Amino acid sequence: MLLIFGLSVFFRTVGQGDFHCPNCGGDRHYRQRVARRWFTLFFVPVIPLNRVGEVIECATCRTRFNLDVLRLPTAQQMAAALPMAMRAAAAEVLTAGDPSGSAARARAVEAVRGYGLADYDDEMLAADLEQPTDGAAEVIAQAGAQLTTEAREWFLAQVVRIALAGGAIGNGERQALHTVAGRLGMTPAHAVGVISTTEGAARE
Ligand SMILES: [Zn+2]
Repeated sequence: MLLIFGLSVFFRTVGQGDFHCPNCGGDRHYRQRVARRWFTLFFVPVIPLNRVGEVIECATCRTRFNLDVLRLPTAQQMAAALPMAMRAAAAEVLTAGDPSGSAARARAVEAVRGYGLADYDDEMLAADLEQPTDGAAEVIAQAGAQLTTEAREWFLAQVVRIALAGGAIGNGERQALHTVAGRLGMTPAHAVGVISTTEGAARE
């Protein structure tokens, strides 16, 4: 009898989830798979040998990546980052001015809603003011990294309007606006431009 034996690599699924696939470019389902070499007899794996690696396989295009690919944010996570960033920025500028001013608070709620968090309200704002977002700086930087220059200007202008809703911008508020702008990745000169343009528009 002729014995046909060999070595083959087989994949076993050890986990799954959603990720951003850099190959087919979207939020996709993935399978986390461990590759192991097997000794085969008549093409049937009979003896497990060494583990040869662990991969993330896209369920849509089947491309395999190493585990680092899971560090890329999904589109869903990126979308969630924007309202988070506005909450952090609004809390920052309100805290620097008068956090109890109703006009400024209403403007802050509107700004967060404008970034997609439709059920944000004054109660949630109060909670944000009481307990500032963990890693607010990072949350804003993360949002800034995915925004175009124009979108950063728009974001900052929203924060400026929160400060303006309470009257003229005070020194503390101005400083907070610059802090937010810096975290968004804007230069101080760029920030001054956006702040004064927004102030000018409010005076008209
Ligand atoms: Zn894919």
